[in-house]
Amino acid sequence: MPIATVNPANGETIKRFDALGPEETERRLAAADAAFRQYRTTGFAERARLLERAAGLLDDDREDIARTMTTEMGKPLAAARAEAAKCAKAMRWYAAHAEELLADELPPETDVRDAGAVRARVHYRPLGVILAVMPWNFPLWQVMRFAAPALMAGNVGLLKHASNVPQTALYLEDLFRRADYPQGCFQTLLVGSGAVEAVLRDGRVAAATLTGSEPAGRAVAAVAGDEVKKTVLELGGSDPYIVMPSADIARAIRTAVTARVQNNGQSCIAAKRFIVHADVYDTFAERFTALMAGLTVGDPLDETTDVGPLATERGRADLEELVDDAVRQGATVLCGGRRPEEQPRGWFYEPTVLADITPGMRIHREEAFGPVATLYRADSIDDAVGIANDTPFGLSSNVWTRDEDEQHRFVRDMEAGGVFFNGMTASHPALPFGGVKRSGYGRELSGHGIREFCNATTVWYG
Ligand code: NDP
Repeated sequence: MPIATVNPANGETIKRFDALGPEETERRLAAADAAFRQYRTTGFAERARLLERAAGLLDDDREDIARTMTTEMGKPLAAARAEAAKCAKAMRWYAAHAEELLADELPPETDVRDAGAVRARVHYRPLGVILAVMPWNFPLWQVMRFAAPALMAGNVGLLKHASNVPQTALYLEDLFRRADYPQGCFQTLLVGSGAVEAVLRDGRVAAATLTGSEPAGRAVAAVAGDEVKKTVLELGGSDPYIVMPSADIARAIRTAVTARVQNNGQSCIAAKRFIVHADVYDTFAERFTALMAGLTVGDPLDETTDVGPLATERGRADLEELVDDAVRQGATVLCGGRRPEEQPRGWFYEPTVLADITPGMRIHREEAFGPVATLYRADSIDDAVGIANDTPFGLSSNVWTRDEDEQHRFVRDMEAGGVFFNGMTASHPALPFGGVKRSGYGRELSGHGIREFCNATTVWYG
């Protein structure tokens, strides 16, 4: 994939970038290594000062960077502004909480004596240069939820961003530079995916984090495994959205639409499979379809747009193949299922609802990365749990029920990194984020996230 800004709303190439050559990549690796040696010795107060400064600059830049994101990957402008604001909030949260999250842990006195020590503690130290391989769908947020905790822990970052968001990638490097971070603390590597292996194998890189597709995650984890380097993987998701009879159905339907089409349907934690109890299925299907069909699809820079284009032509082609396969095998198209005629240019796709899904359809097992919802009818709670878990993914899950016994049951049985009741999955700096099964491993955000790239050092005093 060329490194370029191509406007997905009209297919026009706005700017192309040359990939960094080996010499420039080497220069940046050396700078990162040198920066870590110094930056690791800074205290939390100094790190917090820098991160808060960066958050302030990001607030000032919100409108400009939102327009850049929308132009590069097509999310509605209001969503891009909200993403920038969310990043600044997470930066401030980590600036305020990192010291407490990484405070020394003191084992109980009896255990310390039992270990033959006078005193003992666990001390969290940074790992070093962390390589972040990031996707285009939340081009600021995916990076910031790595960068804010990593920098607060004393690590330094090298960003290999998706090739279709180079201006956002360069903005991030510039943001940290303007915030007065020491040179080399956060750098962008404008390189293609083929250059990732050599960087990851470099002895100066300690670990890697990747958010993206399963093949990309597998490739990076394989190299990291070969080098015995720590990885965190946030891969795809096909989150279930279960609606039981005790739910507030009107709210469940309205939220279902947002949960499905947020970010033009291209979110790993978007609800994708709607599993509705038979008692409320017909009501849900009818009203949900009406709301999906009524969304405004159009230019993401237009404030009245609900759903913009897909980020890439390939992404739309992948989505079309999934829908076509399902329809060939008997799925019913309740709305959408095609490109909108009003938008002949750009990579638009109509909000779509498919019913009568069967396990042999690709869309039953693969991630639909666009505004396409699949509907399932469940006859019982067992049936709902069974359908929900019948997927290779396990990122998050949404369940609408006001019945406490049912809630306990879902917490026990959902094969996912999260269970969100009576609402939709959303990330927050204080709550761990990540999945199980093919959705990856490790956690981002909260104390769990900041400790992923730390050396939990046992300190023993005899
Ligand atoms: P990719 O996973 O291909 O891209 C994500 C990042 O990984 C990019 O920086 C990409 O670089 C890099 N990358 C890709 N392949 C490799 C590799 N072999 N080694 C090292 N780095 C690699 O996502 P796509 O844009 O192709 O999207 C495809 C599908 O992935 C989507 O349809 C969706 O299902 C899933 N996805 C999930 C996301 C999530 O949030 N969980 C986010 C994005 C995609 P480059 O851009 O240069 O190829």
